Amino acid sequence: MPSFRQRLSPARQRVYDRSNATTSIPLKASPELRIAVGKLPEALATADPHRVQDASQYIADEICRLLRVPRVGIQVQGTRPSNARGELHGLYTPLNNGSATIKVWMITAKLGKVVAFKTYLRTLLHEICHHLDYALLRLSDSLHTDGFYKRENSLFYQIGGATVGSKATAKPSDAEASWSSGIVRS
Ligand SMILES: [Zn+2]
Repeated sequence: MPSFRQRLSPARQRVYDRSNATTSIPLKASPELRIAVGKLPEALATADPHRVQDASQYIADEICRLLRVPRVGIQVQGTRPSNARGELHGLYTPLNNGSATIKVWMITAKLGKVVAFKTYLRTLLHEICHHLDYALLRLSDSLHTDGFYKRENSLFYQIGGATVGSKATAKPSDAEASWSSGIVRS
């Protein structure tokens, strides 16, 4: 069976190759950004979408400011949409009335629980990486290449996601992973 890349048009194969070759987003995380990441578990613990949204917007704004790209609006929602394939964790819309938006869901569909900190932060960063594909790397499409996941990982470590004290490091199940992130293509 041909690989995902082989099934793309030559133009999209070039986008794929550029995406795959870029394995990190160098970022000099400000103390404010690290503090905001450190406070995210507190916001999640309140289960208050407004608090989680404010915390998430601050993190996104700080990343966009440091990378000098246009900001992206964050909307935190309640229970994840789900179907037989799994649960939707996040959704990126490149242009929505002139500005890009990210939706992140904070309650799991299956158990009705607030999403664990690291899972939540990785989802937020995943969607921010879609934004950066367009706004920073100037790619014409945002594809889930190995390089994309490495960039997401590079942000996670640089902003201190790994060092925030949290026992909860729930990994999404395979079913969830197969439908964890959407992107609205313009
Ligand atoms: Zn995605």
